[in-house]
Amino acid sequence: MSDTLNLLKLSPIEFVRLLNSNGINRFYFVYDKKNKRVAVSHKLLKSIADFLYSDKRDFNSHEGLFFQISPKYETILGAFIHRTNRGQAAGGVRYWDYQTMEDYLRDGLRLAKGMTYKNALAGIWWGGGKGVMARNPNIDKNNFGVRAEIYKQYGQFITSLNGCYVTAEDVGTNVYDMANIFSNTRFTTCIPQNLGGSGNPSIPTARGVVAGMKAALKFYSGTTLKGKTVAVQGIGNVGRPLIKFLFQEKVKKIIACDIYSENIDIANNEFEGENLESYLINRTDDSIFMVESDIISPCATGAVVNPNTIPYIKAKIICGAANNQLEDSKRDGKELHKKEILYIPDFLTNRMGIVNCSNEQYGYINDDPFIEKHLLYNWKHSIYQTTLRVLNESKRKNKPTAEVAVSLADKLSKENHPIFGHRAQQIIDSLVANKWHQKI
Ligand code: NAD
Repeated sequence: MSDTLNLLKLSPIEFVRLLNSNGINRFYFVYDKKNKRVAVSHKLLKSIADFLYSDKRDFNSHEGLFFQISPKYETILGAFIHRTNRGQAAGGVRYWDYQTMEDYLRDGLRLAKGMTYKNALAGIWWGGGKGVMARNPNIDKNNFGVRAEIYKQYGQFITSLNGCYVTAEDVGTNVYDMANIFSNTRFTTCIPQNLGGSGNPSIPTARGVVAGMKAALKFYSGTTLKGKTVAVQGIGNVGRPLIKFLFQEKVKKIIACDIYSENIDIANNEFEGENLESYLINRTDDSIFMVESDIISPCATGAVVNPNTIPYIKAKIICGAANNQLEDSKRDGKELHKKEILYIPDFLTNRMGIVNCSNEQYGYINDDPFIEKHLLYNWKHSIYQTTLRVLNESKRKNKPTAEVAVSLADKLSKENHPIFGHRAQQIIDSLVANKWHQKI
């Protein structure tokens, strides 16, 4: 137990150094369904396998977690694969700095699970997974050359996983990074348009969030966005187009915050003349949850809805793009339900990014019906209709919205791909049988 605590408390850099000193470049944790245990590549890491197995909050029989070290940049390259019955695990790669290994692992586990639910609920034949790179804070994240090298390494790493995980763009990763990944692997989507990809999916994602907000307002008060006040946390790739679409819907006011002044400046320029109140905050400042608004829209990072913020939320609707907004989906979902705050599950409203990417290999047409149907009012599985279904069922069963949406998505996520069955699990089994961790 003390071992477990020690490894999990290490910062990612300390962890990388420990692995380097033990000659470990790659490691994995895979769920052994037959023996109901988490199998691990190296004895040194067994305590982490035990931690995963005993964790009831974030670990959910994830099929496989694979990691590679970039020794030069002391960065961990990771692929978290949750469930792949519906197909290859798909989800973007995050580049973020974490205080501890526990923070890093928990984020990856939760993000991967969220992707399983998102893909299943959107009816996509993909499983759920997520890439997470533990960024070394000593490295200049704006150094173009360094980034290119790290992302190219990430592409090699993904190639080595033989297709059980397909990556894409996420927080901290940009379209140039995606091009660098693509230079070393075919197992990626969201590549730049000039390389044949669908490009940055953030605009459709923002449109999906608006659809979720509209459904929530319809359910809550039979009203529209017109005249409402919306608070937006994070003015990034999604936050910015979201603000634009909300002004197009004639909201009265938008209050928005970000941790970088350049993002505030860009928004102030773009929305000059509109009723935008923007402000700079530090990372731990969650005052945006306390402002007077009709809707609060988390569009930055996860775990922002928690016991520290819930008591202060004045909005009656939470609907945003950020993945895993609830720190503890059961505990926080229940509390929101008790307070009659409508939480629109993130994996329901932010599906458009992945919907956009999932069609890349089939080419492009104008107003692609396979994409646009998710934004319709009347398609059974659209964001609007699914949101209404979840809200109605939550009311009928007197259960939190997150719980209702998860049980719907969980059931769908266990359906096997109609052609390939549970092939990604076989890929994982092959990687382990072929001693993937020793091949570097
Ligand atoms: P982004 O990195 O472009 O934007 C996030 C913004 O949040 C940045 O401007 C960042 O400075 C800011 N930020 C970070 N911490 C903050 C804090 N504590 N308070 C206020 N601002 C903070 O990322 P994005 O692509 O806009 O994605 C936003 C969220 O939506 C992420 O959680 C992402 O996983 C999720 N998401 C994005 C997409 C997509 O298509 N981009 C799809 C699905 C989900």
